[in-house]
Amino acid sequence: MEFSSKLLEKAVNEMSQLPGVGKRTALRLVLHMLRQPKEQTAGLTEAIQAMRNNVKFCQSCHNISDNILCEICSSHNRNTEIVCVVEDIKDVMAIENTSSFKGLYHVLGGKISPMDGIGPHDLNIESLVKKVKDGKVKELIFALSSTMEGDTTNFYVFKQIQDYDVVTSTIARGISVGDELEYADEITLGRSIVNRIPFESSLKL
Ligand SMILES: [Zn+2]
Repeated sequence: MEFSSKLLEKAVNEMSQLPGVGKRTALRLVLHMLRQPKEQTAGLTEAIQAMRNNVKFCQSCHNISDNILCEICSSHNRNTEIVCVVEDIKDVMAIENTSSFKGLYHVLGGKISPMDGIGPHDLNIESLVKKVKDGKVKELIFALSSTMEGDTTNFYVFKQIQDYDVVTSTIARGISVGDELEYADEITLGRSIVNRIPFESSLKL
């Protein structure tokens, strides 16, 4: 792509680093911004910078938050004894959209994947195990995607906590194997949480 302006080229190159944005789309977005009033672009860049500089992660569940504790963890209307274990923040949003779950979450920040060099210690597993050890949790619901990495992660966490007094369950799969949680429709996902099954019975023996 030939550019008549270095400034334009730099903006397009930066924009095309975003996932799903190729050079052509980046150029279209940048040209769109050029046609907009300057204030509009300033609003966008300020929002992104403020988000990047100021956003925090909840100290308890690792969800994105504006405060030390996120809105879910600090709410008085949630059942603090049930914790739903998810891979990332998008899963929290997907499950919240179903309005079917009134417990708390624990965001692992990914799943164990030796191929990608991600081990248990790269994830928020220790803090989850501590919650269970402290007796604060009566039920853990595994809601990771049913991929090999998801299963490996479930099993690893299960092994860490199976000797403690906690019930473990996994979301019932109306969702086919390999589907990412965030793409499940709300009704299916909501139902799969309500109809969760004991974790042990989900193990492929
Ligand atoms: Zn939280």
